[in-house]
Formats: sequence, structure tokens, C-alpha cells
Amino acid sequence: MRFDYDDGNIFAKILRGEIPNKTFLETEHTLAFEDIAPQAPVHMLVIPKGAYVSYDHFARDASDAEIIDFNRTVAAVCEKAGVEEGFRAITNARAHGVQEVPHFHVHILGGRPLGRMLE
Ligand code: 5GP
Repeated sequence: MRFDYDDGNIFAKILRGEIPNKTFLETEHTLAFEDIAPQAPVHMLVIPKGAYVSYDHFARDASDAEIIDFNRTVAAVCEKAGVEEGFRAITNARAHGVQEVPHFHVHILGGRPLGRMLE
């Protein structure tokens, strides 16, 4: 599988500092920031700083350090956001997954009961 990364996407622009964001946490390899159109009281986006299109691209090609840092940041976001009662982590990939922004990201949603997603 080839993953052609488009560095004109909005999250690439956020990472380059070309457009503002509400940063929640930042580490060497990972950035977490508030979604511009929150679907729940907590709605964070966690993204790697590296140029990865989607989850499978990241999981295949990122370094161990990037993958560990990303997952530890997800945990830190959950702790800082106070979602002890639960949360949902979602990642959409490409056309069938209805991925709007082609830079890998995980949505962290919480702060209210979220309902069943899969029946
Ligand atoms: P996707 O459909 O790709 O999984 O989700 C993309 C998410 O990015 C959406 O929830 C959308 O609200 C969010 N988003 C789109 N543009 C911006 C932006 O410029 N800033 C921030 N913080 N979020 C954005």
C-alpha cells in the first residue's frame, strides 16, 4: 500500500504553526488539541507530528518511539481531560471511513454518555 501524504492538509498547517489551535498537550512526537467543532464536552484530536495519512500508515511506518509516544499521549489526554467515567477513541480512515483530514488522528470524546455506536 502506498500512502501519498498531502502536506497541504489542515493538520499539517497546524503543525507548521500556519493556523492556530487550542493545544491541550504536546510531546516530542505528538500534539493533542481541541476539535474545532466538538461533538461532546470533551473532544480532543491526537495527532503524530510525522506525516502519516491514516492509522494503518502510522502503525506500519512510524518508529517505535513515535508509536509509544502517541499512545502515552492518548493516556495523558484522558487523564488531564478527566474522563474517568469513560470515553470513546475513534479514528476514521480514507473514503469509506469518511476521513475529512488526511493526517492520521484519533478523536477522544467524553464528558457525557455517548450511546452505543455499533449494533
Ligand atoms: P475526520 O472526519 O477526518 O475524522 O475528522 C476531522 C476533524 O477535524 C473534525 O472533527 C473537524 O471538526 C476537525 N477540524 C477540521 N478542521 C479543523 C481545524 O482547523 N482545527 C481544529 N482544531 N479541528 C478541525
